[in-house]
Amino acid sequence: MHASAVVRRELKSRGFKATPQRLAVLRAIAGTSGYFTPQELHGDLKKKHPGLGLVTVYRTLSMLTGAGLVCQIESTGKSHIYARRSPAHHHHLVCQACARVVDFNDCELDGLAKRLGRQTGFAIEGHNLEFQGLCRDCRPRKRAIEKSNQSVRGAGL
Ligand SMILES: [Zn+2]
Ligand SMILES: [Zn+2]
Ligand SMILES: [Zn+2]
Repeated sequence: MHASAVVRRELKSRGFKATPQRLAVLRAIAGTSGYFTPQELHGDLKKKHPGLGLVTVYRTLSMLTGAGLVCQIESTGKSHIYARRSPAHHHHLVCQACARVVDFNDCELDGLAKRLGRQTGFAIEGHNLEFQGLCRDCRPRKRAIEKSNQSVRGAGL
């Protein structure tokens, strides 16, 4: 099946209309590396759809997040980052230095959710979880910065 037919069906099954704007945004998302800011996406879209404004991109992304087609990454500390959503249940690791996002699937929170449900009487339907830290590339950089700071101090400045 054609990719846009899949997207159309997914939107419809979630009760959303597959408008040309939404499809254009979804096509642009499919062309990203997986993670993107609204500004980056708008930059891509402008070439083919000059009339599509940044506000519309924001609005469409928030609608797609609600429809479960896009992930919104919270803990970047800077601008919004969105991600193409993998269909499986997953969570994110977010680098606080470069805003890289890595997905992981082996969530072990079901047992905790069941226990909390029993304890509190909540009918738990879902959860959010993001890990914050430094990615493999940023860790050595941070160590290098700390080291050079120490050597400055060590030099008696
Ligand atoms: Zn995600
Ligand atoms: Zn990083
Ligand atoms: Zn989970």
